[in-house]
Amino acid sequence: MSHPDNPLSDPARRKAQTMLVHGGTERSQHGETSEAIYFNSGFVYPTSGSAEARFKGEEPGHLYSRFSNPTVEMFQQRAALLEGAEAARGTATGMAAVTTALMAQVRAGDHVVAARALFGGCRYVVETYLPRWGVESTLVDGRNPENFARAMRPNTRVIFVETPTNPTLDLVDLRAVADITHAHGALLVVDNVFATPLWQKPLALGADLVTYSATKHMDGQGRAMGGVILGSRALIEGDIHTIIRQTGPSMSPFNAWVLLKGLETLPVRVRAMTESAEKVANFLADHPKVEVMAYPHHPSHPQYDLAMAQMERGSTLVAFSVKGGKNAAFKLADALALIAISNNLGDAKSIISHPATTTHQRFTPDELAGMGITPGLLRLSVGLEDADDLITDLSFGLDQV
Ligand SMILES: *Cc1c(COP(=O)(O)O)cnc(C)c1O
Repeated sequence: MSHPDNPLSDPARRKAQTMLVHGGTERSQHGETSEAIYFNSGFVYPTSGSAEARFKGEEPGHLYSRFSNPTVEMFQQRAALLEGAEAARGTATGMAAVTTALMAQVRAGDHVVAARALFGGCRYVVETYLPRWGVESTLVDGRNPENFARAMRPNTRVIFVETPTNPTLDLVDLRAVADITHAHGALLVVDNVFATPLWQKPLALGADLVTYSATKHMDGQGRAMGGVILGSRALIEGDIHTIIRQTGPSMSPFNAWVLLKGLETLPVRVRAMTESAEKVANFLADHPKVEVMAYPHHPSHPQYDLAMAQMERGSTLVAFSVKGGKNAAFKLADALALIAISNNLGDAKSIISHPATTTHQRFTPDELAGMGITPGLLRLSVGLEDADDLITDLSFGLDQV
């Protein structure tokens, strides 16, 4: 209970950090402090008439956890509050979110334009699966908005981008690309994993749908997989909801609960990780054995002005290439004591990966060069360790090169 005159009785007057702790919470009759895990597949109805009414959509209530569940709903509401979106749907993984978001907009005969620099799985869906289903796709260099304008066709339904991109941390000008998209009557879908919902608000910049791998910063502790799609009520409650309902890329209630708890601490964790990433970026930028260092809010970033305009902070990832190519990159990574070799990101534990031989190994040398993935490139996801320890670890690694 609270006093009705208390200004904070109105959830709309609470600040973002507060909403992430309280938003979406629906307590059961037991009055549990933390959100309950409704780890059930089905729901019972008091009467046959009630079952009929719920299936007709005339009575509120859950039917089956493939398409709605109280714990998943709490996660969705909290994620929507953070994003400033009207509605959200949780999915089993980030790839399920991207695939569902794209599938919901296109049919055979349509065309999709995407930036060439994409997370491996996203590029696979756009380049391999969409054409198999009769949806043509064009990949462009996303750094210049003009490239999207040139690739548009009368049947283009979607532009799909991520920014900053994996793994080179190039940027796409979301406002400019949103204008191009809408001038053609298409929709802009943005994979916002690298920026995090804290530092970049694609919906405010003109995007129609935002997707996340919740596996990354939202969980942030290497436990649960998940994804989320956010946007207007019309888009989310239309085909996106129906595809999830009818094809089943659904979020598990248990994972929803883990991710819901992750959202409570997301701002605290991402802010701390970002501060450390800034320190690490400054250290790497000045190191003689580092060829190129990319961090969106470092003045040396080729799109620094755009990064400052579009992102509130530079986020938690740093990309850098060492002189000496693959051997040097391997030597550095293999000498580290704290930073783990892994391909996850956004985790409390700092992680380093060598994209050319892991996440991007299926690409030809020409394709890799086209994406800016050089043999010496390493992607570093900065975690919650003390920044000085991370710099000591990297400094030792660089000495071995
Ligand atoms: C990890 C990731 C995905 C895929 O998410 P999963 O949860 O691993 O399925 C998609 N896009 C980006 C940018 C990612 O980092």
